[in-house]
Formats: sequence, C-alpha cells, structure tokens
Amino acid sequence: MATYRKKKGSDTWHWCRNCSRWPTSDYEERTSRPSYDLCNECKAKEKENTCRS
Ligand SMILES: [Zn+2]
Repeated sequence: MATYRKKKGSDTWHWCRNCSRWPTSDYEERTSRPSYDLCNECKAKEKENTCRS
C-alpha cells in the first residue's frame, strides 16, 4: 500500500520515495490516495512505472 506524504506548510502530496521532493522530515502522512494536490513528478513516475512506493 502506498503512503502519501505532504510536507507541513506545503499542499502537494507525494507517494514515490524516489521523488526529488519526497518529504523525509516534518511531514503529514496518510494511506488513502488524496483526490487533489498530487505531485506532478510522482504522477509522471507512476505513468512511467518508475515510482517506488
Ligand atoms: Zn512527488
């Protein structure tokens, strides 16, 4: 199951650990997919099948 992370003070949710903006500190976490504010880089990785969740 993917984990979604959002850096505090930011609106963008990430779910690829290899995203260049994957938050490693000071973040909120959830396991259900947010319906908006998804990271474009994570989306691109998912499309290319290079997203590591
Ligand atoms: Zn991302």
